[in-house]
Amino acid sequence: MHKFKKSREERICKIISSVKLISLFFYAIIIFSRCNFLYTKNSKIYIQYNIITAFISITLLILIYEGWILFLKNNQICIKTLRIIDIIEILIFIAIVSILIFISGGYLSNYKFLFLFIIITSTIQFGMKCGTYVSAIGSIFILGVDILSMLLNTVNKYFETDLILSGVFVLTSWLLGYYVKVENEYREQLADLVNKDELTGVYNHRFFQDSLTRGIAQCKKENSTIALLFIDIDHFKYYNDLYGHQKGDYVLREIGCILKNNIRDKDIVARYGGEEFAVILPRTSEGEAFLVGERIRSKIEEYEFEGEEHLPNGKLTVSIGVSYFPEKSKNKEELINSADDALYRAKFFNKNRVEIYYSILEELKGDIEDKHIDLISSIKTLISVINAKDRYTYGHTERVVIYCDLLADKLGLSEEEKKILRYGAYLHDIGKIHIPQELLNKKMPLTNDEWNILKKHSENGVEIIKTVDSLKNVIPLILHHHEKYDGTGYPNGLKGDKIPYLTRILTVADSFDAMTSNRPYKSRKSYNEAIEELKKYSSIQFDSAIVDAFIEVININKHVFEKVR
Ligand code: GH3
Ligand code: MG
Ligand code: MG
Repeated sequence: MHKFKKSREERICKIISSVKLISLFFYAIIIFSRCNFLYTKNSKIYIQYNIITAFISITLLILIYEGWILFLKNNQICIKTLRIIDIIEILIFIAIVSILIFISGGYLSNYKFLFLFIIITSTIQFGMKCGTYVSAIGSIFILGVDILSMLLNTVNKYFETDLILSGVFVLTSWLLGYYVKVENEYREQLADLVNKDELTGVYNHRFFQDSLTRGIAQCKKENSTIALLFIDIDHFKYYNDLYGHQKGDYVLREIGCILKNNIRDKDIVARYGGEEFAVILPRTSEGEAFLVGERIRSKIEEYEFEGEEHLPNGKLTVSIGVSYFPEKSKNKEELINSADDALYRAKFFNKNRVEIYYSILEELKGDIEDKHIDLISSIKTLISVINAKDRYTYGHTERVVIYCDLLADKLGLSEEEKKILRYGAYLHDIGKIHIPQELLNKKMPLTNDEWNILKKHSENGVEIIKTVDSLKNVIPLILHHHEKYDGTGYPNGLKGDKIPYLTRILTVADSFDAMTSNRPYKSRKSYNEAIEELKKYSSIQFDSAIVDAFIEVININKHVFEKVR
């Protein structure tokens, strides 16, 4: 649609330029006829000079105009400035025509019709209002000159024709302006049909994709930033199940309205699909985008939706993921993926919240030698592949990082140890990339062979990162996070203190999250049940000192975590 719009605008521009060029031709004729007096009339030279003057004046005017058009084309001028330039251009044309009428005889001039060219071009460009102004100026000028001549006691037989000409000016601007208005409205209605989502009245997915592509291109040109919000309604399936899809549709419409009312004119709100919306925020920083997200989130939370009291939170809410270009993503796909990732974070850690995209790998990049930066990008891709295969892994690794952070503080780890533990927590399941999706999402308990494949993920994970020197310290965490304290774990059956300390911490956090998460083959335990399980296997599967510290941490933060699920 944008392409059509652009080509239409280009064609209109060409028509307007042609009309202006034709009018320049007339201007040249007047200038040329005024220059006649410079030459002696009774010689051959007279004719030659006439031809030369005509040629020079026409070429000069056309060259000036073409040069001007070329200048506007080659310089990236913002729309606002372009409008001002266009208005100045109209005023210059009015001034030139007025001067030319004046020098070609004033009230006697045959060139008063030249105002018509300006009226036609300005009406096409700016609509009826502008055309009417220009026709009024033209009429006032020609009638003014007539009245002036009459005041000077000259008999003016042109006044009557000039009155008719003024009427033609006004009529032209009015008729043409009306046509342009109708045509514009029709075009807007068509554009709405093509670009808007019928149910919610916000833009549709296609328009969103086109706008984001253009927004990013603009951003690169201007060296600015563009932010993206991904918005997903919480527990919407539940709402539909409770009240039916029609009521659900009504909510979608209301949310569409709230979104439209809480963004700036230059922002674009679209329905990404189902019950997900996206907002593009051009020239917006991360902090500003977060504030917009927070405003939208709280407006929706405050809004009273019918029947929301029966939803799990007692309110209809949304979760929002925020990302932005170019700092957090290098292209459109990455921008969408990262905003989607941030949205999943918001969902997993506590619905009804705004999360800014954050990748531990970006942090990792700062610690890593230049030659391995590419590998980090590959790891990032691997993780997004695993996330796509198994949504559990995404929330899981993020939650394990949080549990490990809390435990690290509790156990008084050094900054260096804390960092290694975080990286380990983030990368511990990376070996799952080799495991088929069917196996990761299998509902039935796994067979022995399948277990053996799954167990390989620790060693596979080490294979992926072992070439990176600065990740050497993370290897034990990836390799041994399934070892058990009594030596019955895998892959090496390490026992007790033989299992590295940071790995023992990771094992507790990892196992606790596995217990409290829904998996395809088992449903989750409550926090209390999982704590009991940790106690039961303390000194068997887990290091008891770490279990004790972890239980304390969990009990302090339970009110936050419970809300997560
Ligand atoms: P979560 O809090 O994790 O986002 O849970 P959820 O139930 O909102 O998400 P889920 O992806 O499980 O379900 C999305 C639901 O959105 C499924 C479908 O019933 C509903 N939905 C999608 N499109 C429409 C629509 O056009 N109209 C209506 N009424 N419902 C829709
Ligand atoms: Mg959804
Ligand atoms: Mg949802």
